[in-house]
Amino acid sequence: VNRDYDVILCGAGMVGAAIALGLARRGRRVLALDGDDTDYRAAKANFGLVWVQGKGYGKPDYQRLSHQAATLWPAFADELEDKTKIELNYEQRGGLHFCFGEKQLEERALRMQQWQTQLPEQTVSTEIVDRGRLERMMPKVQFGPDVVGASFGQRDGHVSPLKLLTALQRGFVAEGGELRHGAPVSEIRPLAGGFEIRAAEQTYRAAKVVIAAGLGSPALGAMVHLDVPLRPQRGQLLVTERLAPFLPFPASGLRQTAEGTVMIGVTQEEVGYDLRTTTSAAARMSSKTLRLVPALANARWVRQWSCLRTMTPDGCPVYAQSHEHPGAFIALCHSGVTLASFHAGPLALALDESLLPPELNFFHQRRFDVS
Ligand SMILES: Cc1cc2nc3c(=O)[nH]c(=O)nc-3n(C[C@H](O)[C@H](O)[C@H](O)COP(=O)(O)OP(=O)(O)OC[C@H]3O[C@@H](n4cnc5c(N)ncnc54)[C@H](O)[C@@H]3O)c2cc1C
Repeated sequence: VNRDYDVILCGAGMVGAAIALGLARRGRRVLALDGDDTDYRAAKANFGLVWVQGKGYGKPDYQRLSHQAATLWPAFADELEDKTKIELNYEQRGGLHFCFGEKQLEERALRMQQWQTQLPEQTVSTEIVDRGRLERMMPKVQFGPDVVGASFGQRDGHVSPLKLLTALQRGFVAEGGELRHGAPVSEIRPLAGGFEIRAAEQTYRAAKVVIAAGLGSPALGAMVHLDVPLRPQRGQLLVTERLAPFLPFPASGLRQTAEGTVMIGVTQEEVGYDLRTTTSAAARMSSKTLRLVPALANARWVRQWSCLRTMTPDGCPVYAQSHEHPGAFIALCHSGVTLASFHAGPLALALDESLLPPELNFFHQRRFDVS
């Protein structure tokens, strides 16, 4: 046994690194064990949206959580940039969901209204904007003829996901945390008053263990009675060459990065653990984008990639403590960028106190127990 820790994180991707940072900031001795470069790593492939509008449709608990995370984001970003000197390119000026044709716009308006109504205590943060207003908001964009309007979410924003991941990991180390790469956890053994963890031929002990290993989590969860029926969902996206700034707001499926490249996406495909990119997805995404902004036909696509989302059966996050092995926790979600501020803040606090507050009850993985 090497030495003792208060908490060991299994996984230091978008979720694990944020939680680790939050715990280290609270003065805990934290070790984060991250897996191999060949692991599925959603953190390295995502779209970078910090998104609220429509999140948790039919699931007000998740809606509330997304609102909370967005509210925490500005201060969280400031503090992280301050600590790490990494510019995150975070912006929260609002975000758009474009609609083609009146019928789509009507359906979107109804859906947004239902979504707002399910959480009456929340001030209304979305509105429908017509084409004329869109043109005034985005004067450098010539929209295709089918674009009739969009829903606009005031709380939406975006960030550079790669810089965010780097900053979370560096911030964690700067707070005194220990980070090991190439150290996949192979065993979690409950002991009296703690856990023994095996990773890359080493053994470590800690009072608590947090499983945040993305798609690697089910194997680890099973060791401490935290079984989660997780599935991969493939997302593909396209990236263009750098263009002069012309998109002042991110949209679901279209955003311009601080460097000028335009990200286009993202597919949602149920293809198991298949990481291939496909020409059919590229064709679908480009034709939708050209319907939106025809002038993008002149831009060169320079990259296409795919990655797997960490998807729970209902699409909502999982935050739970093992009933059989108190001190063992699991944290999973498919919006790890959006929720990073929550993971480093209130969730880290709750884990530190070993008490997930009642407002997180909904997120327990027992909701998937069919027995
Ligand atoms: C195409 C795409 C677009 C997306 N766009 C967005 C977006 O716009 N906004 C948003 O909020 N979210 C987005 N996401 C989701 C976001 O990327 C994920 O929610 C987030 O990365 C999940 O974080 P995680 O830490 O659970 O998993 P990951 O980031 O995948 O990290 C898991 C880590 O665990 C490690 N690991 C695995 N097994 C073990 C083990 N046994 N021991 C130790 N470590 C292990 C891995 O090496 C890895 O580093 C997108 C995802 C995809 C695929």
